[in-house]
Amino acid sequence: MLYDNIEIKDGELCFGGARVLNLAEKYGTPLYLADERKIRENCRKYKSALDSCGLPGSSAIYASKACSFAGIYKIIAEEGLGADVVSSGEIYTAKKAGFPMERAYFQGNNKTDEDINFALDCGVGYFVCDNFEEIEALDKIAGKRGVRQKILLRVTPGIDPHTYAEVATGKVDSKFGVAIETGQAIEAVKLALSKKNLELEGIHCHVGSMVFDSEVFFKAAAVMLGFAAEIKKVCGFEIKILDLGGGYGVKYYDGQGEIDIEENIASVAEYILKKAKELEISAPSLRLEPGRSIVADAGITVYTVGSVKKITGYKNYVSVDGGMTDNPRYALYGSKYTVLTANKPEEPANLVADLVGRCCESGDIIQPEVKFPESIERGDLVAVLTTGAYNYSMASNYNRIPRPPIVLVDGGKDRLAVRRESLDDLILNDII
Ligand SMILES: *Cc1c(COP(=O)(O)O)cnc(C)c1O
Repeated sequence: MLYDNIEIKDGELCFGGARVLNLAEKYGTPLYLADERKIRENCRKYKSALDSCGLPGSSAIYASKACSFAGIYKIIAEEGLGADVVSSGEIYTAKKAGFPMERAYFQGNNKTDEDINFALDCGVGYFVCDNFEEIEALDKIAGKRGVRQKILLRVTPGIDPHTYAEVATGKVDSKFGVAIETGQAIEAVKLALSKKNLELEGIHCHVGSMVFDSEVFFKAAAVMLGFAAEIKKVCGFEIKILDLGGGYGVKYYDGQGEIDIEENIASVAEYILKKAKELEISAPSLRLEPGRSIVADAGITVYTVGSVKKITGYKNYVSVDGGMTDNPRYALYGSKYTVLTANKPEEPANLVADLVGRCCESGDIIQPEVKFPESIERGDLVAVLTTGAYNYSMASNYNRIPRPPIVLVDGGKDRLAVRRESLDDLILNDII
């Protein structure tokens, strides 16, 4: 199986030690299952690799946009990670969950004055400043409050990770950050250093997502350290923190690339030590911001089949009770997934059909050309694997479809973490 938390026992699918059919019966479908043990295991991988990487003070920050709900901030807090937050909504959720906000990093390319005030109210540890206007606005607002706010500066190192255009963020022409190449990044550093209510601690970049090529992180580190040396030369200031963002790829199907994250962290850290010495700067502490690689393989989605449409001489469709509302990733990026028929995973799969949702949109495809057992019929259960990242967090109420619940499983036990949206939830804000 794709991951060690997926098994077939007595002819049915098990996930995180629990029987998927039982959970579907108990909680209904569509249903997100999240394997708490796997989430914690993934956190520990990062934590131990960074704790022992030779750069003191290094740590991992969970990019919570990958999957944000109160319970996950509790797990992340317990595992000793920080959290990236990109909106007042994520900040509010983390704060309400009791997350230690000094470990929160406020990201994003457009923080409104309202967001800035809210983040300061909540005691967010770091702002990752994206642009000149934000530096000005944050300094002003922090000044009014009489606080000095720690910041990192987001820059673009001009690296193309060669993954998907939609998720590449480190190129010079990106909407995120200030470009090193154009000289604007050093101007932003000067501006930040001139502000008495801001305390610049380091620099940040995030080159993209679904990276399997370990070279990408070496290249990013090289450019960023070169920039740190420039900052030292021009401004006489040494950065304390080097944040290389997130982006490690995960496996969605057999045969896809793999990357050994722990090994990569160790060798990137070693490279940073060596390079800093060459450049005659102090070695900074390292921050990494994994999102996908913390939660993706800790999630599956379970659906019930409603119809099997065989258009003779053309193609076949298997329709389920969810769709692009709970998983828009194929519609957005053409993302690939592994699909299993949960109640008969071992039957030969010879029927090729598109797995489609219930939304009024032809593009509402969860996965095209899936192989199903010939016997697939209404009432069967289908599981889409590796849906822990960017599914629930990207879910919508299109067609007024309520969002599914999230059930945490752990060693065979289950508990409800997010309840299913009700029809009343859908009209909660409708005034007239
Ligand atoms: C999206 C994002 C991440 C996480 O990326 P993954 O590919 O999910 O690991 C980290 N940092 C920033 C700034 C991001 O925008």
